[in-house]
Formats: sequence, structure tokens, C-alpha cells
Amino acid sequence: MSDMMRESEPWACQGDAHGPAEIQVYPAKAAALGGGLKIRRALPARGKRMIGAWCFLDHFGPLSFGDRKAMDVAPHPHIGLQTVTWLLRGEILHKDSLGYEQIIRPGQLNVMTAGKGITHSEETPPQHSGEVHGVQLWVALPDRDRHCDPDFEHHPELPVWEADGRRIQVFLGEAFGMQSPARAFTPIMGADVRLAAGTHALPLATHFEHGLLVVAGRGRVGDVVLEPGFLYDLGMGREALTMTVADELRFVIVGGEPFDEKIIMWWNFVARTHEEIAQAAADWQAGRHFDPVPAYSGDALSAPDLQRRLR
Ligand code: MN
Repeated sequence: MSDMMRESEPWACQGDAHGPAEIQVYPAKAAALGGGLKIRRALPARGKRMIGAWCFLDHFGPLSFGDRKAMDVAPHPHIGLQTVTWLLRGEILHKDSLGYEQIIRPGQLNVMTAGKGITHSEETPPQHSGEVHGVQLWVALPDRDRHCDPDFEHHPELPVWEADGRRIQVFLGEAFGMQSPARAFTPIMGADVRLAAGTHALPLATHFEHGLLVVAGRGRVGDVVLEPGFLYDLGMGREALTMTVADELRFVIVGGEPFDEKIIMWWNFVARTHEEIAQAAADWQAGRHFDPVPAYSGDALSAPDLQRRLR
């Protein structure tokens, strides 16, 4: 995914975890990706920039689009982050400058490690179900790893835990007694949780802060109503999350140790200084440093103007 909210707004982000006493609720910001696809961006939010190393949470769809091509994000660059793509419905075709071409479907995981630089496109494949619904999440790489070689991983199957009206898949890191096979660079977790009607207590790691993004249904934690369109910041130090579900609830929960490095995020780049961001943008516009995506037919995206100094 590419940041299509062309506000050229930089985000200086750093861990800002709080205790478990209360849940902080942040409204997601709505945007359109083109093709009728709506996006709700839960991170970064004003007042909450990161959860662990998670620095960007987008929930897209659900959309039924028939024969059209709902998603067509042309080649664009990334540095300093991992993109984590997880689908609830439909399919997306990923192509990148390393030569990977991979269709992702629900229950499967795509993780792209940008490191020092990668280019990719994401589009509805020629053969499709006419539906799309999912999340794309970005993870900031720590300073020691952020200049690593780029890489792409596809995991067609992930561990599933299913019992007592709960179905959980851990797609990144470790949680709920499961470990994702995908490479992670910091202590982190990301999981898809589906709950049937009832009361559910989910154990959480107390040394992680956690955030929750509802993708379908409704639920409650005490007086707090859980529904799509908000980020629920659970803070850290919480041993369990007890939820009441009337019908059905499905959410993505992310967590990790608070990220103690200050990052600067602009467009599709995560770096540490204005100069690094400006260099990456100039390199992209000049056709330097970043390789093309040979399998994509069509023009690449242009970087927005870097209008002011990032700090
Ligand atoms: Mn992207």
C-alpha cells in the first residue's frame, strides 16, 4: 500500500505507552484509495503514534466490486519498514523489484521487509472474487536493522488456535502460545481474533503495549464499545482483556515492547532524519537507488512534494 493521503504530513513518532487503567479510543481517519476502496487509518493517530514497533494501521474495505479492478496501487518505494498484509476476504496480487509475484488470500500472510529500499505494486489480480477486505500494517525497523537488504515472505498457512467460540491466528511475532513463521525484528505480536457470542478473557503479555482494530462486528470491554472505525489503545501492563460479545466480533490486535527510537515517517518512508527522507524522495523521483517492478504494466507513483522540513 502507498500513503495516498496527499497531505505531505510528516509524522515524528516514538513510543508513548501508558498504563492499563483505561482504554484510549482514537477515531480512524477515512481516505479513499481509488476504485471505490475506502480506507480507515487507525495509526498514526493524533495523540497516539505507535504501538510497539507498529507505526501504520490501515483497514480497507469491505468492498464488493464486481468485474472492476478495485485495487491498483502502482509501483512505489519503501524504506525502513516492513509491510504486513492480511486479508479477510478477496485477493491481492503483490509484485516487487526483487521479482516476487504473489497472490495473497485470506488466512495467508505477506510480509515485505523494505530495509534499505524496495519497490512494489499491489493490485486486484485478473482472476478475482469481486470482493476485498483486509488490513495493511507497517512495522518500523530498529536502527540496527533498517538498512538491511530487502526481502519478501509469503506464508500460505499460519498456526490457528480454535476453541470455546474463539479462533485466533498469530500473523507476526508471538502471542497466545503461537509463533508466526514471519521474520520480526523487535519483540512484537499481531493477531486476527474472531469471537462468538459470550464473554472472553484473552491473556496479554504485560511487557507489551497493545492496540485493537475492529474489522467486523461489535463487542464491549466494560463500558467501552468496540466497533469498526476506531483504534483502541489498551496500554501496557495488562494481564488479560475481558470482552463481551453479543453476536460476533472480529479484530486485529497488535502489540509490542514500546519502541524507544524516534522515527520520522513521510509518504512510504520510515527514517530518522529529514535528510534521509529527502534523499529517498529525490532518489525515487530521479529513478536512482530503487529498482523498478518489471512485472507491472503502467506508470509508477510519484512522490508528493516534500514541502517543509521534517523534524
Ligand atoms: Mn506499499
